[in-house]
Amino acid sequence: MYCPNCGNEISDNASVCPECGRTISGAITGKTNQAAIAGFVLALVGSGLLGLIFSCVGLTRANRGSDCKGLAVAGVIIGILKLLVSLISVIVFFTIGISFLAALGEAIEQAEEAAIMLAL
Ligand SMILES: [Zn+2]
Repeated sequence: MYCPNCGNEISDNASVCPECGRTISGAITGKTNQAAIAGFVLALVGSGLLGLIFSCVGLTRANRGSDCKGLAVAGVIIGILKLLVSLISVIVFFTIGISFLAALGEAIEQAEEAAIMLAL
């Protein structure tokens, strides 16, 4: 784990930091960072937004001495990327959808005109 005061890596069992002498009690000492793990998994296989939220929580915990900081950072990055991809997909989907509907509307109009011509 890391000392919450000076940031030096110290033994998981240390009660006092050998570098700065601070008593280690308030820190989340060597505790498995479940939020970071959950965030990473969620970002990878589930919702990017949920993954991002959990990863941010995990990152905060990692900064307070818990482990899995790399996992939390990865979760944040994947979460942001996934959100961007979903955003782009939505924009592309709507752009294509709107032009498709416009083309469809034109085709129907032309078909109607042709039908009227035939009827006459
Ligand atoms: Zn220290």
